Amino acid sequence: MEPYILTIDMSGLPQAWVELQEAITYHAKGMVAWSLGEQVCSFRGGWRRDGTRSQIDTKSIIAIRGSSNGARLLGQSPGLSNPLLFSRDRQLCAYCGQRFPLKELSRDHVVPVSRGGRNTWTNVVTACRSCNTCKSNRLPEEAGMSLLYVPYSPNRYEHFILRNRRILADQMQYLMSGVPRNSRLHD
Ligand SMILES: [Zn+2]
Repeated sequence: MEPYILTIDMSGLPQAWVELQEAITYHAKGMVAWSLGEQVCSFRGGWRRDGTRSQIDTKSIIAIRGSSNGARLLGQSPGLSNPLLFSRDRQLCAYCGQRFPLKELSRDHVVPVSRGGRNTWTNVVTACRSCNTCKSNRLPEEAGMSLLYVPYSPNRYEHFILRNRRILADQMQYLMSGVPRNSRLHD
């Protein structure tokens, strides 16, 4: 499968994972300010009058000219979803510590919603179904269970790592440089 190209803005903040074709379009329109990483591929364009074929290359990370959402987006947490949550927690149940397949995992609210707990990154953990059922509508202490890790909100760099399973080595290196030290990705 083709890898995705990581687009960044002029401040270096990740913007999107894009298909190769879209990256090539950015190049063709002169929208790439600079690029980083390994050359990913050459894309063959139309035939020139002299019988040769035009060719566009792209690297694995490209900065899009004029874009600068940086400051505004950096503080923003990614939307909470089960796939991202399970990925953040490496598919480990926060209570029994065992790893489970995705279909056996669930989202546990540390402070249950029915008791005022919020549906936010810092109040949710990955739990296997049996631990979730056992904990039920209680706080961990009330259930005699303890959290094996502390929930946290992934930043934008980490979010980009969590949602792509086919990251090239240089893209990973770039993104990891922006991941906070307390992230589980550094474990
Ligand atoms: Zn469990």
